[in-house]
Amino acid sequence: MVEEVGPGVTDVAPGDFVILNWRAVCGQCRACSRGRPWYCFSTHNASQKMTLADGTELSPALGIGAFAEQTLVASGQCTKVDPAIGAATAGLLGCGVMAGLGAALNTGGVSRGDSVAVIGCGGVGDGAILGARLAGARTIIAVDVDDRKLEWARDFGATDVVNSRATDPVERIRELTGGFGADVVIEAIGRPDTYEQAFYARDLAGTVVLVAAAGRSSRPGTETACPAVTSRCWWACIWPAACRWTSSCRKPSAWTRWKRPSPR
Ligand SMILES: [Zn+2]
Repeated sequence: MVEEVGPGVTDVAPGDFVILNWRAVCGQCRACSRGRPWYCFSTHNASQKMTLADGTELSPALGIGAFAEQTLVASGQCTKVDPAIGAATAGLLGCGVMAGLGAALNTGGVSRGDSVAVIGCGGVGDGAILGARLAGARTIIAVDVDDRKLEWARDFGATDVVNSRATDPVERIRELTGGFGADVVIEAIGRPDTYEQAFYARDLAGTVVLVAAAGRSSRPGTETACPAVTSRCWWACIWPAACRWTSSCRKPSAWTRWKRPSPR
């Protein structure tokens, strides 16, 4: 709920019920101009520092500080929504749902009749499953280690589920896709081993979308230091010769690792 607005703010007003966007796109930069706002280079963030009462400056997490009771954001980070939705539901739209839907619809380009595998069925993965369903995917395979999450994944549109504690997800995804692998595999966990599963579970003409970025502590030597990975450009890692980031990549081993031909 907007409590106060600064001078010159006209798009939101006190009393408005809004969700906060941690990547609030500008609509004008070269990425936005190309119709690819998810690569926006000039996202909105508050220019005024948020402080405690004693003047101590605070750094809002992801530019929005959504875990605090009160926060200070740029007006462009607010999107008005119908208050009838309720805060607990609307809040999910600001991050996980958008990330998952975008991975399926925009980055993955899922279209009618595709086979899609989603590894990791939390909020982001379920958003990807929903996006694949909206796009008309024929087969949607959900992979997780938690049977309860896999049941929820069915509610979002998964046609098949795989508990990867009990079943090799790569083998099962291939079985469910005529032996070829999925047209689009979306990784929504952020671990090098699930990145690898995603890679081998795709059709040779398929696409892998990495939504999550692995932490540096995930496994020594395989952290995703290559910025191409965190900027969602998987192909740049498979084909480093075409990678605009190669010259600045701090860990060449991170991407050469992915050059291995598939299948194993
Ligand atoms: Zn932009």
